[in-house]
Amino acid sequence: MKKLEKIFTENLHRYIAAFIVIFLTISACTNQPTDQSKMEQKDNKNNPYYSRTDTTKLQVSHEEWKKILSPELFEVARNKGTERAFTGKYWDYDGLGTYYCAVCGNELFRSDAKFSSSCGWPSFFETRRPEACIYHEDHSHGMHRIEVLCGRCESHLGHIFDDGPPPTGQRYCMNSISLDFVPDEKK
Ligand SMILES: [Zn+2]
Repeated sequence: MKKLEKIFTENLHRYIAAFIVIFLTISACTNQPTDQSKMEQKDNKNNPYYSRTDTTKLQVSHEEWKKILSPELFEVARNKGTERAFTGKYWDYDGLGTYYCAVCGNELFRSDAKFSSSCGWPSFFETRRPEACIYHEDHSHGMHRIEVLCGRCESHLGHIFDDGPPPTGQRYCMNSISLDFVPDEKK
């Protein structure tokens, strides 16, 4: 019995080490969603207007958005810039979830309305709700296009074209940087 106890005591540090390794592995596997939501909170922590539940329309000045948003997002969302084709984070992404306005958190698209488009920007055939977006005539760059803006904060999202797939035949051609993707929770 003494001998057994001795073996156990001598190997105790090994048992503890094994336990810690197992514990850390389990933690790493189960904590991913928490880490992701922490990251989102960090990204939006300086933006008091960001909300995924509040649908109240926002009236925030150009100058104030400039203080809040990253220079890259500000350039696209408030100066109507366009990211280069095939460079954004969502143009060929097909995860299941919801796309929100990166400026204000307004719910814009579901992943099941996204389709593979060869244009190099994330493309959708319909919005989540009819009032999710608003539309302006755009005559810039010698073209006639319809600009798509966020229905809550009026940030520039992209343009809409009528060469999309059924059932709507529309193609919402969006800038990835203007979108925040939140994956569906695993059931
Ligand atoms: Zn918005």
